[in-house]
Amino acid sequence: MAAEARFRQIHLDFHTSEHIPRVGEKFDPQNFASTLHKARVDSITCFARCHHGWMYYDSAAFPKRIHPHLHRVNLLKEQVEACHRLGIRAPIYTTVQWDHYTAVRHPEWRVVGPEGELVGTKPYEAGFYQEICINTPYRDFLKNHVQEMLETLPVDGFFFDIVRPQDCSCWYCRRGMIAEGLEPTNRQDRLHYNKKILDGFKLELSNLVRTHNPDATIFYNAGHIGPSVRESQTAYSHFELESLPSGGWGYMHFPLTVRYARNLGIDCVSHTGKFHTSWGDFHSFKRKAALEFECFRMLALNSKCEIGDQLHPSGEIDPYVYQLIGSVYKQVEQKEPWCRSAQAVSEIGLFTTEEFTDERVPEATAGAVQMLQEAAYQFEVLDTASDFSKYPLLILPDGITVDSEFALRLDDYVAKGGKLIATGRSGLDPAGTAFVANLGIELAEKPILAADGLPVGGRDVGGNFKYVDYILPTKSIGKGLPPTEHAMYIKAVEINAKPGAQVLAQVVASYFDRTWRHFCSHRQTPSSGRVTQPAVVKWRNTIYFAHPIFTIYNQNAPYWCKALMLDAVKLLLGEPILQHDGPSTVLATVNEQTNKQRLVVHLLHYIPERRSREIDIIEDVIPLHELSVSLNIDRPVKTITLVPELKTLPFRRENGRLNFVVPKLSGHQMVEVAF
Ligand SMILES: [Zn+2]
Repeated sequence: MAAEARFRQIHLDFHTSEHIPRVGEKFDPQNFASTLHKARVDSITCFARCHHGWMYYDSAAFPKRIHPHLHRVNLLKEQVEACHRLGIRAPIYTTVQWDHYTAVRHPEWRVVGPEGELVGTKPYEAGFYQEICINTPYRDFLKNHVQEMLETLPVDGFFFDIVRPQDCSCWYCRRGMIAEGLEPTNRQDRLHYNKKILDGFKLELSNLVRTHNPDATIFYNAGHIGPSVRESQTAYSHFELESLPSGGWGYMHFPLTVRYARNLGIDCVSHTGKFHTSWGDFHSFKRKAALEFECFRMLALNSKCEIGDQLHPSGEIDPYVYQLIGSVYKQVEQKEPWCRSAQAVSEIGLFTTEEFTDERVPEATAGAVQMLQEAAYQFEVLDTASDFSKYPLLILPDGITVDSEFALRLDDYVAKGGKLIATGRSGLDPAGTAFVANLGIELAEKPILAADGLPVGGRDVGGNFKYVDYILPTKSIGKGLPPTEHAMYIKAVEINAKPGAQVLAQVVASYFDRTWRHFCSHRQTPSSGRVTQPAVVKWRNTIYFAHPIFTIYNQNAPYWCKALMLDAVKLLLGEPILQHDGPSTVLATVNEQTNKQRLVVHLLHYIPERRSREIDIIEDVIPLHELSVSLNIDRPVKTITLVPELKTLPFRRENGRLNFVVPKLSGHQMVEVAF
């Protein structure tokens, strides 16, 4: 396996218009590298070629593509060599599907939509987002470009940007689909073909790179890592999770994605930005507290850090940006010894609905991640190809359909003592006609149908609070809640419990659904008091919730949904790995460094606030005092120490748990538990 990725990286954008003069004129190699070094940067991705299509090195093969006003004709090489002198890695960036220079000169290489339209930025709009198809002769250009870089530049690695599936009907793709016996008019066939072409492209390019330079790092960026990466994973040396919280990804994308990606066997490096908003936001600054949270959260979730910046066209590195970055990276550097080769210790495997919906932040999974993080559970995000045998509890949130092969694997898991929670439409066969997972339930015979002819239950087809029912908390599920109706904003899947299954909570119907024929007040119709079906069913080691409770939580986070679910988790799982008495805004994770014989607990307390219409802001650190933490460990513990401060803490064992108190949590605190 390759060397562990570096912890303090920069992604230095340099998309520079041809209308800007004297590009690179103020570049000073020594100042460039020493500014990075002072900010404790240990890797920086620099530009060979940008989305405008311009090159920043002295290309002999493509002289016309060199930026017309590039003052330092070997800017890239000088950047890389200056960095190398100070021990800083400098992988090379080049663009794949967005290249304005190529798009205007080769419209026949562009992605064609099913209506014959050229996909991406229109002629009278600003932007270089014209999509280019890599199934055209453009692919030959890319290979020659990469070949030239391998032969003429010092290559640590490559970052290939914008490598994403397309729905393309260009002539090359249509011809290719026909040759493979596919039906080009069928969208599914087109997507299937495009995925295959894209995977083949990645594997071919990586092969080219590795033939010249087996140690080069290689990454293909699609702005996301999800289950669809599996077929081409060998083309990657590591993953980079582009996830700028203020750049359109939000604060949920990163934890969800990294909890999936970190299980795929290669290193994860995660991007945020120094920008106030997103890429290209020149002369803007993120608040230090936000940058700390974003980087320290990466460490807590087993990722390395990468901060996005854009170099000014003059080539002069901004000292104020690197003061900010340095103020955070100096702390990262001190924390690193407790993060190297650290593996998460987890008790729950949460399946992602991304596999079925293709959403980057799928609602049900996001709701579950949010809920489990608030409750300090330790968990991974999985897909159906994952090995889930090692997790004591599995959660199938809302929309995990089950084919016969997956059903057998789940049966085997439960038979061996594994615990399972399924919610909403999870456990149904892919056609939605019957439960194939053994959950002690069956579909009711005549469900209410929505306008599309499919059952209403478990699907968000309501809008305007049309289809709402109520759940009655009991002494086992929702025990801290008032024992009265609680609104469930998406109606339950209509089910019956099988004989022998235990009903833990019931559904109470409203008087009627809200339609033009009958409605009541502003929103949903109130409870009729009539119990209609089970809401929560226990069967052997499984608990089934008829409501898509995680989607509801993702939509508007009713506290009772969390309370109901956490009771079920506790009922099946028993003692959690970690507990604390802090607020639900604490993020707590547990990692293990087996080679150092220690656990490292990460505690974070930063609160993103919706202060503006567009983005969440973190401006302040709100410290917590006297935070009690307990761990479910039976191994003998030598010491508990606040790190990197190296202050030891007293601890005691009680009821099988290890208890200690963190005197002050100011943003981020690591606690070492040495065996
Ligand atoms: Zn095409």
